[in-house]
Amino acid sequence: MTMTTKKTGSDNASQLTVNKLQQSIQEMFGHKDSQRGVDGTFMWFMEEVGELAGALRSDNREELAGEFADVLAWLVTLANLTGIDLEQAVARKYCQGCPRCMAEVCKCQISAKP
Ligand SMILES: [Zn+2]
Repeated sequence: MTMTTKKTGSDNASQLTVNKLQQSIQEMFGHKDSQRGVDGTFMWFMEEVGELAGALRSDNREELAGEFADVLAWLVTLANLTGIDLEQAVARKYCQGCPRCMAEVCKCQISAKP
């Protein structure tokens, strides 16, 4: 007899990469996301950004962590829907120093958008 055990959150997260997260989100929700489309998904993403804003103003650390996770999950969903490899995109733009001044520790004016 074979017993199947459900993976715990920590098992899934033990070697978490953006790529694995993107694949996991695709497997879990891709069938629904493709029906909803980019516009509807972007609305959910923005709603979650609003909830993150609320959580940043509260003292509830657990809620704050959850809202960060939600925003990232919806961002990854948008990357799935638009065929963007988010890990590759982030690596290209942010893993070779500041995208503007190219320094490992940004030397841009604080008012400048990176
Ligand atoms: Zn810079």
